[in-house]
Amino acid sequence: MVDVVVEDGRVVRLGPGEAAGVDEVVDCAGRLLLPAFVDGHVHLDKVLIREELRDHDGTLAGAIGAIHERKRRYSVEDVRARARAVIEDSVRLGTTRLRSHVDVDTIGGLVPLEGVLAAAADCADIAEVQTIAFPQEGLLRDPGAYALMEAAIEAGADVVGGMPHWETDDAARLEHVRLCFDLAERFDRDIDMHVDETDDGGVRTLEMVADKALARGWIGRVCAGHVCSLSAADDGYAGRVIEKCLRAGISIAANPVTNLVLQGRGDRGLVRRGTTRIGELRAAGVNVLFGQDCVNDGFYPFGRGSMLEVALISAHAAHLTSRADLDFDLQAVTDAPARAMRLDDYGLRVGARADLQLYPVPSWREALRLQPPPDKVWFRGRLVAENSASSKLHRARS
Ligand SMILES: [Zn+2]
Repeated sequence: MVDVVVEDGRVVRLGPGEAAGVDEVVDCAGRLLLPAFVDGHVHLDKVLIREELRDHDGTLAGAIGAIHERKRRYSVEDVRARARAVIEDSVRLGTTRLRSHVDVDTIGGLVPLEGVLAAAADCADIAEVQTIAFPQEGLLRDPGAYALMEAAIEAGADVVGGMPHWETDDAARLEHVRLCFDLAERFDRDIDMHVDETDDGGVRTLEMVADKALARGWIGRVCAGHVCSLSAADDGYAGRVIEKCLRAGISIAANPVTNLVLQGRGDRGLVRRGTTRIGELRAAGVNVLFGQDCVNDGFYPFGRGSMLEVALISAHAAHLTSRADLDFDLQAVTDAPARAMRLDDYGLRVGARADLQLYPVPSWREALRLQPPPDKVWFRGRLVAENSASSKLHRARS
């Protein structure tokens, strides 16, 4: 039996018998205590709009197009209310830190960012939200977006986003990457880009990003999200670029939940699963995290801010079943996103911020299998959510 002692929002002692004499005790015997989840890749500006969108072909391009009309009608209060609802749901289900991409383009301007920043402020007592200025429509394809990116960072966006593969050719893609690194240098920001979210193995902006990170010395400050085309590329390219990612300290945000439904739609027979090379990246020692990515939006009609659900679906996508695999799966929704977001006070350890959650099961595997909500969630040592489930079985006994 190990005691975890929390004082002033931090874990101050950890070990057998450490709780003797403390004011308030929560008996966690037989239950699973984890650090609260970190969702390292979500789009809070787009959540909860699926019902209002026209149907589309289910692809990334179809989803981006279907959202345009709705994005034009965004208001700050509309984005704020939807983002706040998903932050609150995420906290109920054990996530207390989130990193959200927010569209910055000439369709929505800075309205999505203002809405998400307002929601983050509304929820500052229960969660911490980082924002990424994300040029969803491209930088060269969407003239005016670059100036909006500058304005977004000045308005409070924490991280520089990107979407290089969305440009029309390799020269434009390279220029997009350069522009993002220029912005990051000018404002001293980390970078978190959408990279190669396509089945086309010939689309290779991940190498452009890795080369630029190495050349500019942006080591450990870049996260690449999705990276689907790496699965379709040849092994020679994959091996070379994975090694560069490792050297540049690039984190990879795999988002199997969304990409399982978006990608591989043109395939017949053997249908691609849409996820990046999780096994090879893991084997090479690259930091790999799993994000929720989408909640009930144009890209993905499901999702509920549950990183336990994300971990379960990702385990299916990435063939994670052994004990070591399940440890990796847990890391991918806790330590790995914390590392990508450079949260140096994260974890269940002395000195870390007391963002914790308690499950009514004895093990991580049982939590994955049974998908219960956490009994309790703490943010900075304060109890911020509690759940209870009740269920009755009515037998026909004589
Ligand atoms: Zn995304």
